[in-house]
Amino acid sequence: MLTIAIQNKGRLNEDTVALMKDAGISASASHRKLISDAKGFPLHVLYLRDDDIPQAVAMGVADIGVVGLNEVLEKEKDVDIRMNLGFGACRLSLAVPKGVDYPGLEWFEGKRVATSYPVILRKFFDGKGINVDVHEIAGSVEVAPAVGMADAIFDIVSSGGTLIQNGLREEDIVTRSEAVLISTPGLSEEKERELAKLMFRFESILESRGMKYVLFNLPKEKVDEAVAVLPGMKSPTVLPLADPEWVSLHVVIHEDILWDKIEQLKNIGAADILVLALENLIK
Ligand code: ATP
Ligand code: MG
Repeated sequence: MLTIAIQNKGRLNEDTVALMKDAGISASASHRKLISDAKGFPLHVLYLRDDDIPQAVAMGVADIGVVGLNEVLEKEKDVDIRMNLGFGACRLSLAVPKGVDYPGLEWFEGKRVATSYPVILRKFFDGKGINVDVHEIAGSVEVAPAVGMADAIFDIVSSGGTLIQNGLREEDIVTRSEAVLISTPGLSEEKERELAKLMFRFESILESRGMKYVLFNLPKEKVDEAVAVLPGMKSPTVLPLADPEWVSLHVVIHEDILWDKIEQLKNIGAADILVLALENLIK
């Protein structure tokens, strides 16, 4: 049976438990537990701090884990990255006090930079041939310049609001991150088979997110025109109606383009349009 390490509490915990739930796997969200058995899939769930997940997976204490790519890059443990999970998106950026006249990365030469990600930061500046004085700080990195501990910071940014509140300006994005599924290198064949089943479920969930199931009626002679405006479906489902002049079409459309497509379909003559949530898209 596979053991999965997930964050015990914090930003990734809820989305991880939700992804598992959508995949038919119920795991306790409780961070008071260290380990529990999931229902709906043969899986032990190990609840850890996100910092410890790459190591737990590298050691094989857990076979797989869900953690931010930022932690995987920082910890440099021997793990395989298996898939992106589409949540926990953020970037790791360099930020300077807003009054600074910033000509470009060369500004950082000889500067003190506070961060919780010293490995990623050093690698970045070594690659550029720029010497920086890296100050590792466990938390509240964004206050370091104001209290005189650093000239600039390197930290996780998502909306950028925290930087602005602290009088900082984001200058360079060093890397982007999202939650990833990692595995112990060299899992047994049996565990790889189990993992393939789990990843198939996750992939189906991720593909269906943001998709809507759309049904509408259309004069029969307009079907070709409707198909031409519909995105990427090999062939929409066309069902006959009691009225032989009309048909019903069923298609899957991403919510980003849903309203555009509905307008186009209405102009062609679509009527009685129903938009439904799509639970799963299995290919
Ligand atoms: P832990 O107690 O498990 O060590 P933590 O305080 O290190 O938790 P969280 O703040 O819960 O970590 O963030 C977990 C992960 O969420 C980060 O490593 C990152 O991948 C992702 N993340 C996404 N957006 C943000 C953000 N705005 N700030 C911090 N982390 C973010
Ligand atoms: Mg942490």
